[in-house]
Amino acid sequence: MKLILAFACSTFAMSLLGSASTAPQTFPTSTGPVKITPLYHASTLIEAGGKVIYLDPAKPAKFNGLPKADLILITHIHPDHMDPTSVSAVSKSGTDILAAPAVVETVKAAKPIANGETKIWQGWTIDAVPAYNIQRGPAPGKLFHEKGRDNGYVLTYGGVRFYFSGDTEGIPEMRALKNIDVAFVCMNLPYTMPPEEAADAVKAFHPKVVIPYHYRGSDLAVFKKKLEGTGIEVRLLDWYPQ
Ligand code: ZN
Ligand code: ZN
Repeated sequence: MKLILAFACSTFAMSLLGSASTAPQTFPTSTGPVKITPLYHASTLIEAGGKVIYLDPAKPAKFNGLPKADLILITHIHPDHMDPTSVSAVSKSGTDILAAPAVVETVKAAKPIANGETKIWQGWTIDAVPAYNIQRGPAPGKLFHEKGRDNGYVLTYGGVRFYFSGDTEGIPEMRALKNIDVAFVCMNLPYTMPPEEAADAVKAFHPKVVIPYHYRGSDLAVFKKKLEGTGIEVRLLDWYPQ
């Protein structure tokens, strides 16, 4: 059943996304370009000013031939985000790791950054922001992502603000974000939110560009349609390369 579902999803993604959509996206800033490459699901490569950042490097993303990390950011403890093997694969001596405090229990080399905290790193400002479920969980009274445990990140470089949602529903803290240039927003059930809810939250904080990520099984056409006429550019990338 799982296999059939995975096949159906990848077929759908291919038909909507075309073939060239794993291409890096480059965004100009006042201190030079930021290049962002989708790797897999939530795993992302960010390059600027000769420095290399990985967000949530995890299997099955492939790191062969990719540069080693100067900084690794980890949002939370789930295996599609926190994968010690992949962290090792992209690390070199001197790699900095910043992660939600619950991650540090497993990834001992990481330094904790909690919701509401800010760190300055090599020209980047890193704000850890909340990411959590309001209503969805594995059983009544339980949530997949508890408030306060997990991070999203707002990363600012050369005056340009990039938001990575982490795993979250359309929480008030997301809706209240200000001046986001490029937003990477999750959607997938049952763990985060459906595309309608994601689009509604995105409408509220109105980034210039939104890029769905962590969207396995979601209908991106629904997401795109809901944002038509808002002036928000919806950029669809393929986060599930074969
Ligand atoms: Zn998660
Ligand atoms: Zn996840």
